[in-house]
Amino acid sequence: MLEDVLRYLEEHRICPHCKKELTLCNAPSIHVGDGLGWGSEYLFICLNNECPMYVKGWDFIAQQYAHVGSYRYMEIPGSKESYSMMVGGAGAFTGNVVDVEALRQQDQRYQERQKALARLDSCVAEKDLAPVLTLLLDEGASVKDRKRAASLLTELNDLSCVEPLRNHGFRDDSLQHEVNLALRAVLAQNYLRECPYCAELIKTRAKVCKHCNHELPA
Ligand SMILES: [Zn+2]
Ligand SMILES: [Zn+2]
Repeated sequence: MLEDVLRYLEEHRICPHCKKELTLCNAPSIHVGDGLGWGSEYLFICLNNECPMYVKGWDFIAQQYAHVGSYRYMEIPGSKESYSMMVGGAGAFTGNVVDVEALRQQDQRYQERQKALARLDSCVAEKDLAPVLTLLLDEGASVKDRKRAASLLTELNDLSCVEPLRNHGFRDDSLQHEVNLALRAVLAQNYLRECPYCAELIKTRAKVCKHCNHELPA
Protein backbone atom coordinates (compact mmCIF):
# COMPACT_ATOMS: atom_id res chain seq x y z
CA MET A 1 0.00 0.00 0.00
CA LEU A 2 2.74 2.44 1.02
CA GLU A 3 4.81 1.18 -1.87
CA ASP A 4 1.87 2.00 -4.15
CA VAL A 5 1.76 5.59 -2.95
CA LEU A 6 5.50 6.08 -3.31
CA ARG A 7 5.29 4.66 -6.83
CA TYR A 8 2.28 6.87 -7.72
CA LEU A 9 4.20 9.91 -6.52
CA GLU A 10 6.88 9.12 -9.11
CA GLU A 11 4.27 9.25 -11.91
CA HIS A 12 4.05 13.09 -11.93
CA ARG A 13 0.76 13.20 -13.81
CA ILE A 14 -0.07 16.39 -15.66
CA CYS A 15 -3.51 17.98 -16.07
CA PRO A 16 -4.35 18.18 -19.82
CA HIS A 17 -6.38 21.38 -19.21
CA CYS A 18 -3.81 23.51 -17.34
CA LYS A 19 -0.53 21.53 -17.72
CA LYS A 20 0.02 21.62 -13.93
CA GLU A 21 0.95 18.53 -11.97
CA LEU A 22 -1.97 16.61 -10.46
CA THR A 23 -2.07 16.17 -6.69
CA LEU A 24 -2.31 12.71 -5.14
CA CYS A 25 -5.32 12.67 -2.79
CA ASN A 26 -6.98 10.08 -0.59
CA ALA A 27 -10.14 8.98 -2.37
CA PRO A 28 -13.41 9.89 -0.65
CA SER A 29 -14.99 6.69 0.66
CA ILE A 30 -17.99 6.84 -1.66
CA HIS A 31 -18.46 8.15 -5.19
CA VAL A 32 -21.63 10.20 -4.90
CA GLY A 33 -22.58 9.56 -8.54
CA ASP A 34 -22.93 5.79 -8.54
CA GLY A 35 -22.69 4.87 -4.90
CA LEU A 36 -19.62 2.72 -5.57
CA GLY A 37 -16.04 3.21 -4.54
CA TRP A 38 -13.45 4.40 -7.07
CA GLY A 39 -11.66 1.06 -6.97
CA SER A 40 -8.64 2.96 -5.77
CA GLU A 41 -7.68 4.35 -2.40
CA TYR A 42 -6.05 7.32 -4.11
CA LEU A 43 -6.92 9.78 -6.85
CA PHE A 44 -4.85 12.24 -8.85
CA ILE A 45 -6.75 15.54 -8.82
CA CYS A 46 -6.00 18.92 -10.41
CA LEU A 47 -6.28 21.32 -7.47
CA ASN A 48 -5.18 24.33 -9.54
CA ASN A 49 -7.79 27.09 -9.06
CA GLU A 50 -6.70 28.64 -12.37
CA CYS A 51 -7.31 25.40 -14.30
CA PRO A 52 -9.64 26.24 -17.27
CA MET A 53 -11.84 23.20 -16.50
CA TYR A 54 -12.40 24.47 -12.97
CA VAL A 55 -12.77 28.15 -13.98
CA LYS A 56 -15.33 27.43 -16.71
CA GLY A 57 -17.15 24.79 -14.67
CA TRP A 58 -19.00 27.30 -12.49
CA ASP A 59 -20.96 28.83 -15.36
CA PHE A 60 -21.57 25.45 -16.94
CA ILE A 61 -23.03 23.93 -13.80
CA ALA A 62 -25.09 27.07 -13.05
CA GLN A 63 -26.65 26.86 -16.52
CA GLN A 64 -27.06 23.09 -16.73
CA TYR A 65 -28.12 22.29 -13.18
CA ALA A 66 -28.90 25.67 -11.64
CA HIS A 67 -26.72 25.10 -8.60
CA VAL A 68 -23.33 26.23 -7.34
CA GLY A 69 -20.39 24.04 -8.21
CA SER A 70 -17.63 23.30 -10.68
CA TYR A 71 -15.44 20.47 -11.95
CA ARG A 72 -12.02 19.19 -11.03
CA TYR A 73 -10.02 17.06 -13.43
CA MET A 74 -9.17 13.65 -12.00
CA GLU A 75 -7.26 10.48 -12.92
CA ILE A 76 -7.16 7.06 -11.27
CA PRO A 77 -3.65 5.94 -10.27
CA GLY A 78 -2.43 2.80 -11.99
CA SER A 79 -4.91 3.28 -14.84
CA LYS A 80 -5.59 5.53 -17.84
CA GLU A 81 -9.08 6.44 -16.62
CA SER A 82 -9.86 10.12 -16.23
CA TYR A 83 -12.95 11.96 -15.00
CA SER A 84 -14.28 15.42 -14.43
CA MET A 85 -15.58 15.41 -10.91
CA MET A 86 -18.21 17.79 -9.62
CA VAL A 87 -17.15 19.80 -6.56
CA GLY A 88 -19.06 22.26 -4.38
CA GLY A 89 -16.20 24.68 -3.90
CA ALA A 90 -12.46 25.37 -3.88
CA GLY A 91 -12.02 23.56 -0.56
CA ALA A 92 -13.11 20.19 -1.90
CA PHE A 93 -10.28 17.63 -1.63
CA THR A 94 -7.76 20.09 -0.17
CA GLY A 95 -8.13 18.16 3.11
CA ASN A 96 -7.54 14.86 1.30
CA VAL A 97 -4.06 15.64 -0.05
CA VAL A 98 -1.70 12.76 0.69
CA ASP A 99 0.91 13.87 3.26
CA VAL A 100 4.07 12.63 1.56
CA GLU A 101 6.40 13.37 4.48
CA ALA A 102 4.17 11.56 6.97
CA LEU A 103 3.94 8.61 4.57
CA ARG A 104 7.71 8.47 4.14
CA GLN A 105 8.16 8.40 7.91
CA GLN A 106 5.50 5.73 8.21
CA ASP A 107 7.24 3.78 5.47
CA GLN A 108 10.59 4.08 7.23
CA ARG A 109 9.10 2.77 10.49
CA TYR A 110 7.55 -0.07 8.52
CA GLN A 111 10.91 -0.99 6.92
CA GLU A 112 12.67 -0.90 10.31
CA ARG A 113 9.97 -3.12 11.78
CA GLN A 114 10.34 -5.65 8.94
CA LYS A 115 14.13 -5.66 9.35
CA ALA A 116 13.81 -6.24 13.11
CA LEU A 117 11.30 -9.07 12.52
CA ALA A 118 13.68 -10.78 10.10
CA ARG A 119 16.47 -10.62 12.69
CA LEU A 120 14.43 -12.07 15.60
CA ASP A 121 15.29 -15.69 14.75
CA SER A 122 19.03 -15.19 15.00
CA CYS A 123 19.25 -12.44 17.63
CA VAL A 124 19.71 -14.78 20.62
CA ALA A 125 22.60 -16.60 18.93
CA GLU A 126 24.12 -13.24 17.96
CA LYS A 127 23.45 -11.72 21.41
CA ASP A 128 21.74 -8.84 19.61
CA LEU A 129 19.14 -7.03 21.72
CA ALA A 130 18.48 -4.33 19.09
CA PRO A 131 15.71 -6.00 17.02
CA VAL A 132 13.90 -7.07 20.22
CA LEU A 133 13.94 -3.50 21.55
CA THR A 134 12.92 -2.05 18.17
CA LEU A 135 9.76 -4.18 18.15
CA LEU A 136 8.93 -3.83 21.84
CA LEU A 137 9.18 -0.03 21.76
CA ASP A 138 7.16 0.24 18.52
CA GLU A 139 3.47 0.63 19.36
CA GLY A 140 2.74 0.30 15.63
CA ALA A 141 4.03 -3.28 15.50
CA SER A 142 1.57 -6.11 16.10
CA VAL A 143 1.14 -7.37 19.67
CA LYS A 144 1.83 -10.90 18.41
CA ASP A 145 5.26 -9.91 17.00
CA ARG A 146 6.06 -7.89 20.13
CA LYS A 147 5.18 -10.82 22.39
CA ARG A 148 7.54 -12.96 20.36
CA ALA A 149 10.23 -10.33 20.97
CA ALA A 150 9.39 -10.23 24.70
CA SER A 151 9.77 -14.01 24.91
CA LEU A 152 13.46 -13.64 23.91
CA LEU A 153 14.38 -11.16 26.65
CA THR A 154 15.17 -13.74 29.33
CA GLU A 155 17.42 -15.75 27.02
CA LEU A 156 19.18 -12.63 25.74
CA ASN A 157 19.86 -11.72 29.37
CA ASP A 158 21.03 -8.19 28.46
CA LEU A 159 20.64 -5.73 31.34
CA SER A 160 20.60 -2.75 28.97
CA CYS A 161 17.00 -3.70 28.09
CA VAL A 162 15.77 -2.72 31.58
CA GLU A 163 15.95 1.08 31.32
CA PRO A 164 14.24 1.61 27.93
CA LEU A 165 11.51 -0.97 28.65
CA ARG A 166 10.83 0.45 32.12
CA ASN A 167 10.47 3.92 30.61
CA HIS A 168 8.04 2.78 27.92
CA GLY A 169 4.29 2.84 28.45
CA PHE A 170 2.82 -0.25 26.80
CA ARG A 171 -0.69 0.27 25.48
CA ASP A 172 -1.41 -3.47 25.62
CA ASP A 173 -1.80 -4.68 29.22
CA SER A 174 -0.99 -8.33 28.48
CA LEU A 175 2.21 -7.29 26.69
CA GLN A 176 3.16 -5.03 29.60
CA HIS A 177 2.64 -7.98 31.93
CA GLU A 178 4.89 -10.26 29.84
CA VAL A 179 7.58 -7.58 29.69
CA ASN A 180 7.39 -7.13 33.48
CA LEU A 181 7.84 -10.87 34.04
CA ALA A 182 10.75 -11.02 31.58
CA LEU A 183 12.48 -8.03 33.21
CA ARG A 184 12.15 -9.61 36.63
CA ALA A 185 13.66 -12.84 35.26
CA VAL A 186 16.57 -10.98 33.61
CA LEU A 187 17.28 -9.12 36.86
CA ALA A 188 17.10 -12.35 38.89
CA GLN A 189 19.57 -14.02 36.52
CA ASN A 190 21.97 -11.19 37.33
CA TYR A 191 21.28 -11.34 41.11
CA LEU A 192 19.51 -8.01 40.91
CA ARG A 193 16.08 -6.63 41.68
CA GLU A 194 14.39 -3.24 41.67
CA CYS A 195 14.18 -1.32 44.93
CA PRO A 196 10.44 -1.14 45.76
CA TYR A 197 10.97 2.41 47.07
CA CYS A 198 13.12 4.14 44.45
CA ALA A 199 13.08 1.62 41.53
CA GLU A 200 16.89 1.65 41.24
CA LEU A 201 18.62 -1.68 40.65
CA ILE A 202 20.03 -3.33 43.77
CA LYS A 203 21.54 -6.70 44.65
CA THR A 204 18.97 -9.38 45.42
CA ARG A 205 20.54 -9.93 48.86
CA ALA A 206 20.85 -6.25 49.82
CA LYS A 207 19.24 -5.38 53.16
CA VAL A 208 19.41 -1.62 52.65
CA CYS A 209 19.04 0.20 49.31
CA LYS A 210 22.31 1.93 48.46
CA HIS A 211 20.37 4.56 46.49
CA CYS A 212 17.62 5.63 48.86
CA ASN A 213 18.82 4.00 52.14
CA HIS A 214 15.47 2.35 52.73
CA GLU A 215 15.53 -0.89 54.64
CA LEU A 216 14.41 -3.67 52.35
CA PRO A 217 12.04 -6.56 52.93
CA ALA A 218 13.89 -9.88 52.81
ZN1 LIG B 1 -5.89 21.46 -14.41
ZN1 LIG C 1 15.90 2.48 46.85
